[in-house]
Amino acid sequence: MSPLPVPLPHSFAETAVRGVRDQCPRCGEARLFGKWLKPVDRCPACAQDWTLQHADDFPAYISIFLTGHLTVPLLVTLVLEYELSALAAAAVIVPLSAALMLALIQPAKGAVIGAQWWLGLGGFRKERPDEPDEPDEAR
Ligand SMILES: [Zn+2]
Repeated sequence: MSPLPVPLPHSFAETAVRGVRDQCPRCGEARLFGKWLKPVDRCPACAQDWTLQHADDFPAYISIFLTGHLTVPLLVTLVLEYELSALAAAAVIVPLSAALMLALIQPAKGAVIGAQWWLGLGGFRKERPDEPDEPDEAR
């Protein structure tokens, strides 16, 4: 089943933002995720096969990286400026970090899937609106 003609995204950023928003990175017309971290097998709007994605652990790395960069300055501020004990600081930081990681992992996975599609990685076919599928070797 070949994908239906839809307006494709014009940039890597547009594709990634669609993934972050739980929209199909290819068409933006349907949801990307059927369950929390499981993408739909096939987009109901453009028929893109999302079983080809292999995000693996990269969304978790992104989520941990962002969570660390958001919470460590807060931890330093709590300990140095407000002189909280280690236990009190942990009581704030640990639940906040867990919530942030859970909140960030699906958008991160959506962006990674969008990036894979845009770059034509794995089984995805590289299809961009302004570029031919094959490089021009006749120059
Ligand atoms: Zn789609």
